[in-house]
Amino acid sequence: MIVYGPVPSMRLGQSIGVNNIPPKTCSYSCTYCQLGRTDRMQVKRRTFYKPEDICREAGAKLKQLEAENRHADCFSFVPDGEPTLDINLGAEIDLLKPFNIKIAVITNASLLWMDEVKEDLMKADWVSVSVDAAEEDIWRKIDRPHGALSHKEILNGMIEFSKEYQGTLVTETMLVGGVNDHEACIGKIAEQLSLIRPSKAYILVPTRPPAESSVKRASKSSLSSAARIIRNISGADVECITGDEKEEGFFFTESVADDLLSIASVHPVREDIIDKLLRKRKADKKIVTEMLEKGELLEFQYEGKKFYRKNIQE
Ligand code: SF4
Repeated sequence: MIVYGPVPSMRLGQSIGVNNIPPKTCSYSCTYCQLGRTDRMQVKRRTFYKPEDICREAGAKLKQLEAENRHADCFSFVPDGEPTLDINLGAEIDLLKPFNIKIAVITNASLLWMDEVKEDLMKADWVSVSVDAAEEDIWRKIDRPHGALSHKEILNGMIEFSKEYQGTLVTETMLVGGVNDHEACIGKIAEQLSLIRPSKAYILVPTRPPAESSVKRASKSSLSSAARIIRNISGADVECITGDEKEEGFFFTESVADDLLSIASVHPVREDIIDKLLRKRKADKKIVTEMLEKGELLEFQYEGKKFYRKNIQE
């Protein structure tokens, strides 16, 4: 399933996900990644799926929603890896445009120094780029990039892209406790953001089970201090996303199992959220047990809470 959802997104509304990259194919292996460690580390762009297949699935999804009297606000390329590794990203965006709904891409920006990646992203209506650090050593520590990547080139690529891009450009900064949440580091990130001039600078914390169990979420006080510093230095409109998702807004199809897989394919979901969703649907929790037994879902503990996520190896 390349096209899934829609699933509610705080930033994008009801979002139809486009999973244009096979599981864990990425140029980074971020310590906070909720998909686990990257096992297919690469920086060379290539073909993964046929753009026509993605377009056909997208059209079928919209038809299905129309028949069910439901709507979607956007297509978002938010795959189980880095979306710009797909050499056909621009062609796929071109094919999705005639559907007349917003197209978003969430990228780690590691390939934004390449002209062809800039050109592909120019076609999207909304682009989110990651700025976890402005200092190379901290970038290496958090994002664990492919050895061929240059931090300086990536930061310059983002600035160059922001000068020409006509759509909505936002940034994401993941604050990891004890690594990039101290004031000096945030100050440098803020200086970088003042050059990128995003419409919004989002600050996130790792609230779901990350790749490395040693990763800790930044404290509330460092989160609010980071927001203040970034606002003051860069002048950006800052919003913090703590990731404590609510169950409101999830749409449902006839199949509870399909719904659970759609939701858990975007990010791990807390057990209490799943329980509420099942109660709403008057469904038995044995559905979850069966999905765990079939290997469709995985169960995790994080910060004393149980989470479920889609098994991307399936
Ligand atoms: S968080 Fe994103 S960029 Fe980082 S390893 Fe995971 S998929 Fe790649």
